[in-house]
Amino acid sequence: MAKYVCAMCGNTLGMMESINREFQDDGKGRGLCLKCHQYFTKNVAGRLEAVNGPREFKMVQESVLDQVKTEKGTAGYEYVKDFFKYKEKEFASGGENGRWEICPVCRDARDPQDDVCPTCGYLYSDRKVLSREDYIRAAEGRYEQYQKNPLYEYKVEIIVDSALTGTVRKEELQRMLSVYAMDGWRLHTALTNEAGKTVLAAAGVGANATVDQTVLIFERCIKSREN
Ligand SMILES: [Zn+2]
Ligand SMILES: [Zn+2]
Repeated sequence: MAKYVCAMCGNTLGMMESINREFQDDGKGRGLCLKCHQYFTKNVAGRLEAVNGPREFKMVQESVLDQVKTEKGTAGYEYVKDFFKYKEKEFASGGENGRWEICPVCRDARDPQDDVCPTCGYLYSDRKVLSREDYIRAAEGRYEQYQKNPLYEYKVEIIVDSALTGTVRKEELQRMLSVYAMDGWRLHTALTNEAGKTVLAAAGVGANATVDQTVLIFERCIKSREN
């Protein structure tokens, strides 16, 4: 007659004792003695009862594994780790024992608190321009689309306005735009940035004088769109 060894405490089970299998153990056939089963029910399985969502699951898993490692050693830890792996799959299965949804695009578990998938950006709610199917098709084909998208390069130029007159250097701006435009660049963004007054004061410029920097960002297409 086969003798069973408890997967947690390592004790051999007595002839009349039955082994407690806590989960489908992928053919490993491990199980627990009655004492460890009671421990398991209270400190492991019981802790998962109210868990709702993958984030909470991970937190419980971490805390339970810590506790089991301290109280039951490596063998118990390995058993419980496999149990959590099994439960995570089950909860995310969408089946009878499923507890939470799966993102239809990236297949990550959906946390009930999230409206947007933190992994792929899929919007779980129904307010969409595209239908759910269109969106999934688009998201699944996005790497292909990236290769078809145009590519750009960018360049930043900074024009410092006259500290004395405080005026925009119109001529310099005009010249710079023309030079870049003839080289295939177009102005993408222009912004002004007031230079630090302490620096100016330290440089001997009056504290009332403001010097602006005009930041120009140029864009140039380096690969056109493919259809
Ligand atoms: Zn045991
Ligand atoms: Zn996703």
